Amino acid sequence: MKSKKTAKTYYDNDADLSLLKGKKVVVLGYGSQGHAQALNLKDSGVDVLVAVRPGGKGWALALKHGWTSGVNLTSDLNAAVRQADWIHFLLPDETQGPVWKENVQPNLKKGAVLSWSHGFNIRYNKLTGVVPPKEADVVLIAPKGPGHLVRRTYEEGKGTPALVAVEQDFSGKAKAYALAFCKAIGATRAGVIETTFTEETETDLFGEQNVLCGGTADLVKAGFETLVKAGYQPEIAYFECLHELKLITDLIQEGGIGWMNHSISDTAEYGEYSRGPKLITAAVKAQMKKNLKDVQDGTFAKEYLKEKASGAPKMAKARKAMAEHPIEVVGERLRSMMPWLKKKE
Ligand code: NDP
Ligand code: MG
Repeated sequence: MKSKKTAKTYYDNDADLSLLKGKKVVVLGYGSQGHAQALNLKDSGVDVLVAVRPGGKGWALALKHGWTSGVNLTSDLNAAVRQADWIHFLLPDETQGPVWKENVQPNLKKGAVLSWSHGFNIRYNKLTGVVPPKEADVVLIAPKGPGHLVRRTYEEGKGTPALVAVEQDFSGKAKAYALAFCKAIGATRAGVIETTFTEETETDLFGEQNVLCGGTADLVKAGFETLVKAGYQPEIAYFECLHELKLITDLIQEGGIGWMNHSISDTAEYGEYSRGPKLITAAVKAQMKKNLKDVQDGTFAKEYLKEKASGAPKMAKARKAMAEHPIEVVGERLRSMMPWLKKKE
């Protein structure tokens, strides 16, 4: 299999922090990515204003982290946007359309930089309604890790890799600005790869649906169910199909699939080569391709936005079913015997 392109990668020396001097950067949202990126920006000397709705978890967390209401924290999104030279959208994807229409569009300064950590709202702007004016830079700064890692690695003097993209370059400096932002959140310490909003959005959705979240959760459940139905003890099935997965993925992340194969027994390795391909069949690959098409033609995005707009009934049903699945029930009990596996709230 050949790759057609080699990705461009940027490091600290490719980015100039001084480009952010004098710019008021408004971070919209204070959740997983919001708290991490806002704190990193502030520690890098950037003039940050956190804008988050009042009364929620984000607001309380921002106060706890030392942001001061009326100084660098506000619940007045309209006023925040009016002052902003740069607006970074760290709200849930499905809420950005309404916030764009109500708070951002009517108050936006000419020439402001608009940025996202996921391309969904721009890639599917016909569905979301997020259509920036021509007089704006539109860039993507997408850390490839959850917020707590973006913060922790920064504090340790390291960083979380990120993707960067330019959709619209009004100033003629959009890419340099985006790289400066990447440096301020610590990403250029680890490496920043150039992409497009389309590539980031489509690969991100495909990956989480087919490999990382959808693929993995369903593979784990199917393996567990097969063993339990065949009469094996659920506790044993849990360890084999769920608990050990982390040990395997740690090896793969450290040194690739070859390193994992080096560490496992030859018996396991032969099982992988001989049985894996029988499982991930042509039919499975055809379904992956179909799932990719749903991402590319907007079918998935439309379905997701509709689900959320109607109060997410399918998600509620699926969450309930998952919580009642025997793998979760037995898992809860087994994990309570391993207190070092701290539960994340
Ligand atoms: P979270 O759900 O963790 O945080 C969302 C924030 O937005 C919260 O502060 C929330 O407030 C606020 N918010 C929610 N709804 C509204 C609304 N209607 N109006 C105003 N504020 C609102 O989101 P994430 O940090 O996970 O995601 C943010 C962006 O980052 C998304 O585009 C996502 O795709 C992207 N991203 C996320 C990653 C991750 O690891 N989570 C990784 C890479 C990118 P409150 O606290 O009151 O609920
Ligand atoms: Mg992702």
